[in-house]
Amino acid sequence: MTVEYLKKASKTSVSDASDVRETVLNILGEIEAGGEAAARAYADKFDKYDGNIVLTRDEIDAAAATVPEKLKDDIRFAHENIRRFAEAQKESIGDVEVEIRPGLIAGQKAIPCNAAGCYVPGGRYAHIASALMTLTTARVAGCPNVVACSPPRPGQGIHPAIVYTADLCGADTILALGGVQGVAAMAFGLFGLPKADILVGPGNQFVAEAKRILFGRVGIDMIAGPTDSLVIADDSADAEIVAADLVGQAEHGYNSPVWLVTDNRPLAETVMARVPELIAALPEPNKSSAEAAWRDYAEVILCGDREEMAQVADDTAPEHLTVLARDLDWWLDRLRCYGSLFLGEETTVAFGDKASGPNHVLPTSGAARYTGGLSVHKYMKLVTWQRATRDGARPIAEATARISRLEGMEGHARTADIRLAKWYPGTNFD
Ligand code: NAD
Repeated sequence: MTVEYLKKASKTSVSDASDVRETVLNILGEIEAGGEAAARAYADKFDKYDGNIVLTRDEIDAAAATVPEKLKDDIRFAHENIRRFAEAQKESIGDVEVEIRPGLIAGQKAIPCNAAGCYVPGGRYAHIASALMTLTTARVAGCPNVVACSPPRPGQGIHPAIVYTADLCGADTILALGGVQGVAAMAFGLFGLPKADILVGPGNQFVAEAKRILFGRVGIDMIAGPTDSLVIADDSADAEIVAADLVGQAEHGYNSPVWLVTDNRPLAETVMARVPELIAALPEPNKSSAEAAWRDYAEVILCGDREEMAQVADDTAPEHLTVLARDLDWWLDRLRCYGSLFLGEETTVAFGDKASGPNHVLPTSGAARYTGGLSVHKYMKLVTWQRATRDGARPIAEATARISRLEGMEGHARTADIRLAKWYPGTNFD
């Protein structure tokens, strides 16, 4: 490859989280031992909140009444798109039944988890979109119990737009708890909730660490690191749009990597000149976040041709991948590693983040090498079953007995022997 770095990152998002781990372990331990009182104490400590934890219908309605009607229309519009996409996903995992050989039938069933705990971050921004993405998908998957959990603002409770959205998306319970205490309440089944079978949703390092520690006791969607985005652009791309898209994603946080991969040096130079100007025009604190992200984590990579650009993208495995280039079908066919792909100028990461339909909870930090993002499937268990006629079972029993004996598992072998002896008395199966 002939790639040239016109800008190289000075930092990577891999950090030592040992302090965070210890903090989170302590909080989880205290809440497991102390229950609801301990969770309330942490809400008071971290979020200065001593109000109601489980929102009542009156509180939900009162919050919803304060949300502007136009915003409600937009939230309903986004909800409909996300629901439609999730419903289409669900169609793609029907039950399976196959006759493997005469008299031997096996199947697969997709069964939703009983209780989904959806964390909706709320510390710095009011993440309406995260509520839409996690709750709508859980509901479409068919989980009987769906909980929304989001941090209260000091002395005020959850942001009203998040409350409205959680209710619209069908949350059975809305918990005003943030961070580790929120995750713990869902996992341990506090405040009258069923214990969560799966915990989903993005959150800060404390939320991510709590999910990591609890994984095994409960399922999780993924461990989300800082959000990241890669833009592929050729000479047909509009440099102003490329720059805006990079800045829009750098805004997420000081450590959110963005990459521009191009085979066109003049485009790269125009974008590199324009990005700092667009960042300077942002309001605070977004400006400082984007400035730091661009300074420390951004890269601009010049390639020789489109195959090299595709290879750099696959090697990076970004959470979001935008292609602003000719022949979008070629890119859709060629690209392999990304959380979500945005093809052409008519779509962009922010559309997907907020409203277009595919889920925005996506693998970060290169995890797109081995997983996709949140989907209906993550809330569902693919379980299998089998049954057989006696004649269908006979060759299976004979093979099982021989394999088990070779493995030294005599007890296993005898479960086959006893059946063969009962079904075919007097027959020698050696
Ligand atoms: P948050 O809701 O994740 O965290 C707020 C909670 O953090 C508080 O309730 C508090 O309990 C806890 N906390 C704060 N300081 C603490 C401390 N010192 N010790 C223990 N707990 C502490 O909100 P946030 O902090 O704004 O973070 C939101 C995160 O979610 C960001 O990292 C953002 O990038 C991410 N996000 C990701 C996506 C995605 O799809 N990848 C979408 C939206 C948000």
